[in-house]
Amino acid sequence: MSIESQNSKSVAGIGSTKHIIAIASGKGGVGKSTVAANLAMALAAAGSRVGLIDADLYGPSQPKIIGSRQAPTGKDGLIVPVEKHGVKFVSMGVMNPSGKALIIRAPLAIKAISQFLSGVIWGELDYLLIDMPPGTGDIQLTLAQQARLDGAVIISTPQEVAVEIARKGLEMFQTVNVPILGIIENMSGFLCSHCNETTDIFKKDGALKLATELKVPFMGKIPLHPHISGMSDDGGNLFTAEPDSPITKIFIDIAAKLKSELEKLTAGNDSIEPESYDIQNGLLHVQWRDGEVRNYDTFKLRLECPCANCVDEVTGAKIISSDKIPLNIQVKGLRPVGRYGLAIQFSDGHNTGIFKFEKLKSLSSSSNEVSFSV
Ligand code: ADP
Repeated sequence: MSIESQNSKSVAGIGSTKHIIAIASGKGGVGKSTVAANLAMALAAAGSRVGLIDADLYGPSQPKIIGSRQAPTGKDGLIVPVEKHGVKFVSMGVMNPSGKALIIRAPLAIKAISQFLSGVIWGELDYLLIDMPPGTGDIQLTLAQQARLDGAVIISTPQEVAVEIARKGLEMFQTVNVPILGIIENMSGFLCSHCNETTDIFKKDGALKLATELKVPFMGKIPLHPHISGMSDDGGNLFTAEPDSPITKIFIDIAAKLKSELEKLTAGNDSIEPESYDIQNGLLHVQWRDGEVRNYDTFKLRLECPCANCVDEVTGAKIISSDKIPLNIQVKGLRPVGRYGLAIQFSDGHNTGIFKFEKLKSLSSSSNEVSFSV
């Protein structure tokens, strides 16, 4: 599998995008689109180059929240995204003047979203946020697998019922090896704009408890506030309209947390992304940018799996033992995780490990069947 296209200097598609993040929720109405738009605007206000895909094909609300119903233009068969509040965005909710959906050759939802990933002139982006369709069906699953996601952020409200559905969304990402960057609790109490007191309307801290239970980062609480819905209804921008308000500060803090979680995951890895990789005769074959080419011994690679089933998260000790691994084990599937690692599917059915490029590069020659330079 060549990843040349991902690394090409071309401005079309996601090749020049540093980080792709899914903003997801188990159910609709929890404020996923509102949070996605505000995080995008917060990142842009802090100087980052940001894109936003409204992938909520059946209920696209970003044109309203961002405040632009302008149809994107086309160039050489590609889509030029509309830019508002420093955020480049595309949405199925923006129609061309004929009244038809802009992407008319996309009868299937997933095909439409693939076009948003590959057929848009995104240019160089630091962050591309995907406002996912709510739920855990085929569209969400396919998108989670195809979008080369660095990770996902899960939005939930504090109520038990919402949290249980958020758990399902979270599990969906975990089954396809997409790391959870964090959980955000939206509509977390009501913040009165007169007295600045917060009143809990729903049961407290449900999403916080879920994050603690599943040992994933908790990114923060966003209260219900009339300025949030007001700005969304009017296509406004909190970061320019009220840069110092408590609400704006909350989004700025969450955006900073998102950046730092991404940093933890990707540090040192994106710069050593290989030239290409594929499976050859059941072995992982990697061509590194420094000219080194390796075929990784699958048995030894399996033994190096870093996932929580194979390594004790607290002590770092290996749990997997070599006598549990079939001698004739093969690599069956590879999937990029962001630009920093590979999810590897083995023939023994194990598929939960994300091998960071740094780790793969550093495995000693004795861990490899073949190692040579060209
Ligand atoms: P979803 O994308 O999960 O379906 P939306 O982002 O469309 O949800 O939000 C649903 C409604 O709730 C919108 O009217 C939005 O303005 C409002 N809303 C979302 N979060 C907040 C909040 N923290 N405070 C006030 N209103 C909110």
